Amino acid sequence: MLRSERYRNFVEYFSKNQPGAQTELHYGNPFQLLIAVILSAQCTDKRINQVTPALFARFPTPESLAASDADEVFTYIRSVSYPNNKAKHLVGMARMLTEVFHDEVPADINELQKLPGVGRKTANVIASVVYDLPAIAVDTHVFRVANRIGLTTNARTPLAVEKQLVKYFPKETLAIAHHWLILHGRYICVARSPKCEICPISWFCRYYERANTETALLKAEALKVKKIKAAKKKKAGNVIHKALKRRSVDKNI
Ligand code: SF4
Repeated sequence: MLRSERYRNFVEYFSKNQPGAQTELHYGNPFQLLIAVILSAQCTDKRINQVTPALFARFPTPESLAASDADEVFTYIRSVSYPNNKAKHLVGMARMLTEVFHDEVPADINELQKLPGVGRKTANVIASVVYDLPAIAVDTHVFRVANRIGLTTNARTPLAVEKQLVKYFPKETLAIAHHWLILHGRYICVARSPKCEICPISWFCRYYERANTETALLKAEALKVKKIKAAKKKKAGNVIHKALKRRSVDKNI
């Protein structure tokens, strides 16, 4: 199947079946989403959603967070991964937002990446989710699932994956495609053992196609070996039969 067909099938399937896919992080405004996304690195959305209500209540604005310090922020996020670093990043991010960006979360990917704790992935999430810009964030799920399905080829880095996805997805679907890939990776195309047997898109998945082609080839090979063995056995049986027959004829003589 051509890559363009896989993209077409992917968009058609998910547009029909998950038209409202969105982030599972809870937030009420761009500032809160930025905090949640920074916290979510190497952590689950479920865990982040457990700590953010108290954090958002204590620090409702960039000014309030900027006026605090990492030690205090740490007490709210101690149960997430890398809490020390993330606490420092959150305070640094809030200070830059107030001092440089007039309390507004910027929309530009490069501007966003100037904020402490904000890498390309986080910047793309904000650009696409908050500002509906044609950007796509590549996290571990997007990286893995896009490759398995066959949406990317020989893409070895998140940036390479991002470039291919941006090139092939219709612009208007880029933002939501991020959520389709993440949710599919989180619940069906899981890292260790993808649930191909219940996957609704296996019919256009490259990984599935290859796995089944290999299985079919192995089965055909096993059948061939079995036939050869059966033929050899039959031949050996015929030789013995003929020998026995010859012996009984000789005895009669
Ligand atoms: S068929 Fe398997 S590998 Fe392909 S997308 Fe579905 S779960 Fe993932």
